Amino acid sequence: MDKIIDGKAIAATMRETIKADVEKLTAQGVTPGLAVVLVGEDPASRVYVSMKEKACEQAGIFSDEHKLPAATTEAQLLALIDEINNDARIDGILVQLPLPPHIDESKILEAIAPAKDADGFHPYNVGRLVTGNPLFQPCTPYGVMKMLEHTGVDLKGKEVVVVGRSNIVGKPVALMCLAQHATVTICHSRTRDLAAQVGRADVVIAAVGQPEMIKGAWIKEGAVVIDVGVNRVGDKKLVGDVEFAAAKERASAITPVPGGVGPMTITMLLYNTVESAKRRARR
Ligand code: NDP
Repeated sequence: MDKIIDGKAIAATMRETIKADVEKLTAQGVTPGLAVVLVGEDPASRVYVSMKEKACEQAGIFSDEHKLPAATTEAQLLALIDEINNDARIDGILVQLPLPPHIDESKILEAIAPAKDADGFHPYNVGRLVTGNPLFQPCTPYGVMKMLEHTGVDLKGKEVVVVGRSNIVGKPVALMCLAQHATVTICHSRTRDLAAQVGRADVVIAAVGQPEMIKGAWIKEGAVVIDVGVNRVGDKKLVGDVEFAAAKERASAITPVPGGVGPMTITMLLYNTVESAKRRARR
């Protein structure tokens, strides 16, 4: 096992498979389609949306962009989602978050047809994940699971400590590890003695959003460390939630930031869209 888990390489391998699947589906007359909805001018959201657009193009996925002004009303957005829900060319729908404050985010996410919910945030898909019968799984945590799989980490019986309990990373990744028969602990801002919790872990998954707050000295010798955090320090430098240099000395495998979990998220969005198109092809 390589010590540095190369997210770029794993993502590239997966994208080759995705591309081949898209070619097969297209030959059967089912070109996978992803609709991306962006409301407003948030610069970071614009960058993400254009990255998703480009990734779709490279994979041969049909991408249908809807860029709407910030003044779009909730009713207009709901009407658009209804239209996309009924568009037979579309297998996945992604509404870029955050939405402008006058729009109720949960109302919008719940309006997406669960069978096209490529982000896996609809309560139906959350429920399927909780009950151990997943349909769409959220992209970043699903990417973490694919990285562990590609690295050859068998979670059965392992102590996994997840730091962070957000709906988009911490909670779903904990459920996914549980489904793989790990013993899972979820830590958060009120956890007492985080160092002791992390110190027990065979696998540490950090999704906190605070630069290098998990110290290398806390990591158990030989543990696997997955760092989801992306934190900008100073003008340009990106660091994770884990003190990488020190943690690397103790870990058996660790993801870098950047180049770790980051490249997996869009890859899993493509993957979810293609899996949905496969279901369409079987109907
Ligand atoms: P949130 O801010 O939604 O959640 C952060 C979690 O960390 C919360 O549960 C919070 O606890 C917990 N936390 C905060 N401070 C501490 C502390 N001192 N000790 C223990 N726990 C703490 O973040 P996200 O889950 O959305 O994202 C986490 C990180 O992952 C961010 O850096 C983000 O940029 C990154 N990210 C990367 C992605 C990618 O690579 N593609 C995609 C998504 C996220 P509490 O609940 O008690 O407040």
